[in-house]
Amino acid sequence: MAFQLPDLPYAYDALEPNIDARTMEIHHGKHHAGYTKKLNAAIEGTDLEGKKIEDILANISQHSTAVRNNGGGFYNHSLFWEIMSPEGGMPSAQMNIHKAIERDFGSFDDFKTAFSNAAATRFGSGWAWLCVDSNDKLFVTSTPNQDNPLMDVADQQGTPILGLDVWEHAYYLNYQNRRPDYIQAFFNVINWHEVTKRYNDANPGASDF
Ligand code: MN
Repeated sequence: MAFQLPDLPYAYDALEPNIDARTMEIHHGKHHAGYTKKLNAAIEGTDLEGKKIEDILANISQHSTAVRNNGGGFYNHSLFWEIMSPEGGMPSAQMNIHKAIERDFGSFDDFKTAFSNAAATRFGSGWAWLCVDSNDKLFVTSTPNQDNPLMDVADQQGTPILGLDVWEHAYYLNYQNRRPDYIQAFFNVINWHEVTKRYNDANPGASDF
């Protein structure tokens, strides 16, 4: 079956004032829809049809640029919508992700600084990520274009559990060139319940706090 554009799990205006409704509408309805359509076109009639997106991305060096760009775009945005929420904010101290962040970064503020720097210094278009590796250790990284840390071409490979789109299409209508303001606002809408779920699922049973 072809890949399907997932529905947004909230209304276009749900993340205002942090992310405006018009940006969300274009981002989901045009950009993400476009990646989904082009991914399906790129794999139609090939042996990638019917494969899981994670499995395609894990061997992306063997596939075409169209599969890399649009497969990444499909996966990255699907994650992005899920890890945001109008009820976002700080993770509670009881959450495994909060304990893992303190274990691996020292404090939540130190994590926030590292993630914000990764997002701010990614030159041109790309993404900042919080990932977990196979030893259950968290790390922050960034990738260009629509690449992500699941790809075998990534500098640092791991399972992404939080991602921030820093393409200008993600913020320019509201923030123009002020990417740091957009990064700051993103922290108001992070869905830590979803991030902690993704963290727990990455290495089941590994983090027994
Ligand atoms: Mn985008």
